[in-house]
Amino acid sequence: MPKNLSENLIEIEKYLDKYKNKTLSHFIGGKEVMSLSGNTFENYSPVNNEKIGSIASGAEEDIKLACETAKNVSDEWRKTSGKIKQKLLHKIADGIEKRAREIALVESYDSGQAIRFMSKAAIRSAANFRFFADMAPNACDGKALPADEHLNYSIRQPIGPVGVITPWNTPFMLSTWKIAPALASGCTVVHKPAEWSPYTAMILAEIIKEAGLPDGVMNVVHGFGETAGKSLTENKNIKAIAFVGESSTGSQIMKQGADSLKRVHFELGGKNPVIVFDDADIEKALDATIFMIFSLNGERCTSSSRLLIQESIKDEFVKKLCERIKKLKVGHPLDPETEIGPLIHEKHLKKVLSYFDLAGEEGATVKMGGKAFSINGAGNYVEPTLFTEVKNTMRVAQEEIFGPVLSVISFKDENHALEIANDTQYGLAAYIWTSDVGRSLRLSHQLDTGMIWINSENNRHLPSPFGGMKASGIGRDGGDYSFDFYMETKNICTAFGTHTVPKLGK
Ligand code: NAD
Repeated sequence: MPKNLSENLIEIEKYLDKYKNKTLSHFIGGKEVMSLSGNTFENYSPVNNEKIGSIASGAEEDIKLACETAKNVSDEWRKTSGKIKQKLLHKIADGIEKRAREIALVESYDSGQAIRFMSKAAIRSAANFRFFADMAPNACDGKALPADEHLNYSIRQPIGPVGVITPWNTPFMLSTWKIAPALASGCTVVHKPAEWSPYTAMILAEIIKEAGLPDGVMNVVHGFGETAGKSLTENKNIKAIAFVGESSTGSQIMKQGADSLKRVHFELGGKNPVIVFDDADIEKALDATIFMIFSLNGERCTSSSRLLIQESIKDEFVKKLCERIKKLKVGHPLDPETEIGPLIHEKHLKKVLSYFDLAGEEGATVKMGGKAFSINGAGNYVEPTLFTEVKNTMRVAQEEIFGPVLSVISFKDENHALEIANDTQYGLAAYIWTSDVGRSLRLSHQLDTGMIWINSENNRHLPSPFGGMKASGIGRDGGDYSFDFYMETKNICTAFGTHTVPKLGK
């Protein structure tokens, strides 16, 4: 049974007690340790911008220690049988399920994401561990590739210690997407969580310790991107970096990792189109459009931030959108009724607000919302916002705002829709709403995005590839795609004894 706001507020106090007036440590070699320098930074809740607690601030020496630790146990973890890995990862999933309420409440309070979504995200995180747990026993399997006089066969082995760097939107769930397949592959991990949402990363560390994962196989170092994050990407013991965050940070990481030839997997930003044709199921398309931009505070890489609407239904669709936007419930993230919570940080709020001014300057109409507000005098709340009369060349149509802000752009026909959809630096996701199957497939084949949903909102299927093209990313997550990233493929070629070896120097 979902609890109400007052009950949630009482319960969260119990969990926050662990963090208030205390310093959250790193987790290295199975132990909670402070930064070698003793440095800390403060963490605030977006609900009121009041300090929750202090966090150990990792620097190069802390990262070095964590990476050496991950390297020292790398061989042992690699050789641990797939069956044992499977069992341990299922135990981690059990632990997540057991503490799912705590994870959801803490995540909600720390990140501003509504509890209705964070409760599901916590459960999905356990599912991530279970899915990859069951792939662990066969992770090393390759292919048999027989030739006329040789047998080639491939096997996979873990690449070694990896760095996982995650952002602040749904931080727990996103980290499990990376950490679960890395561990199932046989890699050891150093995780650098986002500095604005550090708490649930340590809950995962506690669960992992309790599940009995050998010390040092999973480590967490908190800190800022420019210090802890940068050191992790430069560390020579780290063989690959799985990164989720902004496109510009991805580009930085590529440069930072160049000297040590890091393998990288990037899940980056998006400016995703939802394309609605006049033959679509309008009510369903409306539900999906609203869900995909206003859930998770619009702080979602796959958010449908550009609505491409066919001219003939534009007025009707915008009218319906306005009616629904008016009724969206913006409020305290721990209120189960809340649909949109406060934005993660005052700095991010400022960024989102700057686009409200920009929209007017660029000639778009701020049809709904467009203001910040507070609840009981506090919080990073913004009104759900709708920009109409947007041209795709405007910055509000090209840049990732990462807030509850939808830009409406109209199109004439299929070709025009395709042209607008692809006219962006990003290429993460696209949504198509039409009852014409042929058209949806024609478009899907021509859209430059890594993922396309037809007559559906985003829903995740773990074996399917997740990721983007262009400035939205490099590589894919999910199923075997994840294993390909965390593992090296080795080819072994054996002669049947029938071929002639070329003779030199005879
Ligand atoms: P960000 O790039 O600012 O930070 C992400 C992480 O990178 C943080 O942990 C940060 O400390 C670290 N970092 C920053 N600079 C670094 C550096 N130079 N070296 C190493 N690490 C560094 O992103 P954010 O603001 O936390 O998150 C929002 C972004 O994440 C959005 O662009 C969003 O679209 C993207 N995102 C993408 C996906 C996806 O699957 N494609 C999913 C979620 C979020």
